[in-house]
Amino acid sequence: MVNYTTKINEYGRTQVLVVGSGSAGATAALTAASLGAKVTLIERYGFMGGISTQVLDTFYGFFIPGNSSRKVVGGIPDLVVEELVNRKAAIFRPNTYGAGQGITYDPELLKVIWEELALSMGIQILFHSLVINVIVENERLTGVIFANKAGLHQIKADVIIDASGDADLAALAGVPYESAQDQPVQSLTTTFKMINVDVHKAKTVTKNQLQVLMESTSGYDLPRKEGSAHISPLANVMVTNMTRVINIDPNNIEALSAAEIEGRRQAFEYARFLVDQVPGYEKASLGGLSTQIGVRESRRIIGQYRLSRSDVLKAAKFSDAIALCGAP
Ligand SMILES: Cc1cc2nc3c(=O)[nH]c(=O)nc-3n(C[C@H](O)[C@H](O)[C@H](O)COP(=O)(O)OP(=O)(O)OC[C@H]3O[C@@H](n4cnc5c(N)ncnc54)[C@H](O)[C@@H]3O)c2cc1C
Repeated sequence: MVNYTTKINEYGRTQVLVVGSGSAGATAALTAASLGAKVTLIERYGFMGGISTQVLDTFYGFFIPGNSSRKVVGGIPDLVVEELVNRKAAIFRPNTYGAGQGITYDPELLKVIWEELALSMGIQILFHSLVINVIVENERLTGVIFANKAGLHQIKADVIIDASGDADLAALAGVPYESAQDQPVQSLTTTFKMINVDVHKAKTVTKNQLQVLMESTSGYDLPRKEGSAHISPLANVMVTNMTRVINIDPNNIEALSAAEIEGRRQAFEYARFLVDQVPGYEKASLGGLSTQIGVRESRRIIGQYRLSRSDVLKAAKFSDAIALCGAP
């Protein structure tokens, strides 16, 4: 350990500070702004959306699973879907793994929609800024320190929302949490899209047929055989959820760096398999990788109440609920 002293710029004060602009942070920021609060949003990348634009292209949770796709979620998320539908950038399709109807969209356009909505509600967006520390006064989070190319900055706020997806602020503030140090976390996935696909032909290959092909064909290193590919609102494009990198602690930077490299290697191997072996992909190429490897979970804070298995199975309702989800 070394001690290090440096200058920190005063960035001022806001009412609601949201750290992280994924589905959770973006929705929290839009909700606070729609209620009249002065909102600042800090995001480490140069666009909004988190996993919804960095890695995936489908919203689940709007509809309950089962044969009748009843919609149970609305509110601010509806604004986002409405914009996607208006611009013909979304399609409704059944979930590959049985989690009810999904809404598959163009993630590049979603980046624009998230920021248009944020700007229209007067939210201040600070991109390319990473929160690296917290200010705790009288057991309350009162500000954060963030870093960007212009240096280190301190911003204070009445309310601070940790929507980092990794519980970064909670961990920095000393909130207890579980991580891969305690028990294995879910695998990581680099998603990729295939372009110039004969989609009509490719979508006749069912998920089970794809799995059988992966299991029965030699000459490819495919660690996960039950991966899937799905259609997109983009013409001649199929989007995959196939690669699998296991036994990684996403909070360990050496392990995460190795996972990024392995995820990309696997993506090109799966693409080679698709082109060689799967109908519809004969003339296709890998046309894009996720911005980073998709991390399904990292830290889980130990909060005031933990959802139990039976809460989930019974679809328990809580009087202080702030959000709904139709399906896991
Ligand atoms: C491949 C894959 C498949 C998945 N499948 C499912 C599924 O089937 N069902 C399901 O329920 N869930 C699934 N998930 C999980 C689900 O996608 C996430 O739980 C959800 O998107 C998280 O949203 P979020 O807004 O909380 O976090 P994120 O979308 O991760 O957003 C966090 C944001 O904070 C930013 N950020 C992080 N740290 C900092 C910092 N220190 N300073 C500034 N900015 C920061 C990030 O750049 C990001 O934009 C899957 C995830 C992956 C990767």
